[in-house]
Amino acid sequence: MNAVDRPEVVVDLAAVRHDVAVLRARVAPARMMTVVKADGYGHGMVEVARAARQAGTDWLGVATPVEALALRAAGDTGPLLCWLSVPADDLAPLVAAGVDLTAYSPAEVAAVVEAASRAGRPARLQLKVDTGLHRGGALPADWPDLVAAARAAEEAGAVRVTGVWSHFAASEDPAHPANDAQEAVFRAALEVVAAAGLEPEVRHLANSAAALLRPSAHFDLVRCGIASYGIDPAPDLPDAAFPGGRPDLVPAMTVRAPLVLSKSLAAGDGVSYGHTWVAPAATTVGLVPLGYGDGVPRHAAAGVGTDQAAEVLVGGRRRPVRGRVCMDQLVVDLDGETFPPGTPVVLFGPGRDGEPTALDWARACGTIDYEVVTRFRGRARRVHVDSAVDGAVDGAVDGAVDGAADGAADDGTDGGDR
Ligand SMILES: *Cc1c(COP(=O)(O)O)cnc(C)c1O
Repeated sequence: MNAVDRPEVVVDLAAVRHDVAVLRARVAPARMMTVVKADGYGHGMVEVARAARQAGTDWLGVATPVEALALRAAGDTGPLLCWLSVPADDLAPLVAAGVDLTAYSPAEVAAVVEAASRAGRPARLQLKVDTGLHRGGALPADWPDLVAAARAAEEAGAVRVTGVWSHFAASEDPAHPANDAQEAVFRAALEVVAAAGLEPEVRHLANSAAALLRPSAHFDLVRCGIASYGIDPAPDLPDAAFPGGRPDLVPAMTVRAPLVLSKSLAAGDGVSYGHTWVAPAATTVGLVPLGYGDGVPRHAAAGVGTDQAAEVLVGGRRRPVRGRVCMDQLVVDLDGETFPPGTPVVLFGPGRDGEPTALDWARACGTIDYEVVTRFRGRARRVHVDSAVDGAVDGAVDGAVDGAADGAADDGTDGGDR
């Protein structure tokens, strides 16, 4: 492994392009939306969005208006769906920017109509039905009223209803009865839409797991978030559960840092705050300059939430985290070995060189890998590399620095992703 001079989050955009292309091929002829909310699940929204467009994604999806406008400010002009506004949001700039908005209720349709009149052009509006997740969207009993409100707004020329959609509750578990039930409710909701005379461009229901596990739910478009970053949305399922086999996804994120220090401990020495880990025998430990202020889950050590400690790769071996993860630093057990300061420490990555994956960290921390990668939006420098150009992820990163810490962009577009 090449030198690692600072704590860093390395994002391989070639992996993102590969993953998006694999997913597109899987779901064709359905179209692909790449979900880049929450700063691209911690990978850098603008950079990931650009890579996904290069790989042929048709749509981008974000949660908030701020995210949608940041993509437009960075130069993205393609189809873009936003699904979570709050009453205080000013939607007129989104209408003006050609962003597809989502309405969950007739009141939200009215807000979009009002924004369209201020923007001086019809809004692109999608309607969300709650098929059973019981989060956003109109319940089936309220759906006809929402559809009627949207139809009236379309007839008045204030909106164009471009899409109808919903979201699964348990798509990573194909045996869960909610999947069939939700798809049936969705199909019934589409009949209401057709009967009202609306002709949306896209009808969509599937997230990553449903895109890969449930072809009947592809409709016109699928919305892939986590799989676009190379993370398996259903890691507990056997390969045979995936129609067409488990896809060849490559995780895009590697988190690594230089070792600061190695030291020797005697039996009975406690490590980190509260001495939650006490060395059972003499050993050596290493100091890693990453902590919860950078996104490392505090529950990474055995006994802090789980039985199993998260591990890092140092000197070709996995080493467990010992004691509490601090705000800025953590301690790993080097089991009698010492390494010079600057020795690379890999928290997680694609897993190809023996390093743990985000899934390994998630299991050790009692969470999901979605959360592990999305947490790294803090202090550690984010570096975008392109393994198709630079060689491996471990290859030269100089010149590709698009610092999360300093907000500098390397390519002239607005890298203001903080
Ligand atoms: C986050 C999100 C997605 C993406 O889900 P993944 O499981 O990451 O593929 C799709 N649709 C909606 C509405 C979402 O909020």
